[in-house]
Amino acid sequence: MTELFFHNTLKRAKEAFTPIDDQHIRIYACGPTVYDRIHVGNARPVVLFDVLVRVLRHHFPKVTYVRNITDVDDKINARAAEEGVSIRQLTEETTKAFHVDCAALGAMPPDIEPRATDHIDAMITMITALITKGHAYEAEGHVLFQVDSMADYGQLSRRSLDELIAGARVEVTPFKKAPADFVLWKPSDDNQPGWESPWGRGRPGWHIECSAMSAAYLGEEFDIHAGGLDLIFPHHENEIAQSRCAHGTSMMARYWMHNGYVTVDGEKMSKSLGNFTRVADVLAKYPGEAMRYALMTAHYRAPLDFSMAGVAEAKSALDTLYRASANAEGDGKVDDGMLSALGDDLNTPNALARLHELARQANKGDAKAAANLKASAQMMGLLLSESSAWFQGDAADDDAAINDAIAARNEAKARKDYGEADRIRDELTAQGIALEDGPDGTIWRRI
Ligand SMILES: [Zn+2]
Repeated sequence: MTELFFHNTLKRAKEAFTPIDDQHIRIYACGPTVYDRIHVGNARPVVLFDVLVRVLRHHFPKVTYVRNITDVDDKINARAAEEGVSIRQLTEETTKAFHVDCAALGAMPPDIEPRATDHIDAMITMITALITKGHAYEAEGHVLFQVDSMADYGQLSRRSLDELIAGARVEVTPFKKAPADFVLWKPSDDNQPGWESPWGRGRPGWHIECSAMSAAYLGEEFDIHAGGLDLIFPHHENEIAQSRCAHGTSMMARYWMHNGYVTVDGEKMSKSLGNFTRVADVLAKYPGEAMRYALMTAHYRAPLDFSMAGVAEAKSALDTLYRASANAEGDGKVDDGMLSALGDDLNTPNALARLHELARQANKGDAKAAANLKASAQMMGLLLSESSAWFQGDAADDDAAINDAIAARNEAKARKDYGEADRIRDELTAQGIALEDGPDGTIWRRI
């Protein structure tokens, strides 16, 4: 069997993948906090870890992929109040929208998608165990994890306790024994969602959710834990602390894989900076498959600079692959070169390059290469439409774009901006579109 190599954040090195049980691979990825539609930065782990799971499924008989839904969070409470809707309505609608976006991106649903609010009991049980074992304490209705009770806390992020205390992100609260201690449980007032617990009515901290849900479905120790780079600290570090201390184990997951940031002009795309593009806004202009392809053009650990032009390029690269695969004959075989690129720490840029190599062979009339191209691309979640349907979608998109341009030209004329109106007409002419202004408006035809 082909050996797989993945970069393990825990070791800061690329390692051969040795599963705990090679008959059953278990993988957990942190899912969305459902208060808003996802942006391109959130879509990157959805697509890249979908590729990872497809690779694992290709090589192993059984894979269980768990990705949670965080449906209790202060951001959710704030948004629901802002919009005047119930928390339940907000989280359910956002979850639905998330599923729509994931499907458009060609990401298969995870095998299990647990919701945090369905696992409060498991969280309470885990917190109770942490208190019993001397790793957590109660203070003013809160329960806190006592960081100095774990000798090797900080292994994943490689931060010392001193650095943690100095860290600006660690909030100092009077009832904490040490500044680095973090919240496992906090009290809820009457307006906040809350559950009865041994420490009064309250709600869980974010980190404990993933510890409880991963253990419920994957066990105390599992193979891969995945997420974005920004989750290494504090989220994943604290998941490890909770899980290992509650279970008395030496590890939580064997491999920790983290994807790099999506950037815009070199800056991290984020809600707080306001420089984000929602996935739905990209999907309004381009097929989801083009966006999926665009997200694969950079190695998952490297930054990916996002632009609509990048998605347009991805679209035309897919046009090339669809054209080349159109004359596929018979069942294709998944290409070894592509598989070894993916097996080498999920090198999607090299895997895509291999698909284009197959396309070049197919374009020389090699029907076998065309079939292999199709089979290989489909393993990556690409070329899933019929070629004819793909190009048909194109014509419809073109028509919509032309109608938009004509509307923009009419608006320019209405505000007497004739320079802009002429510019739009020239642009359309250059694309082979002729406009005729008549009494009933503007009609267009291809020339
Ligand atoms: Zn998590």
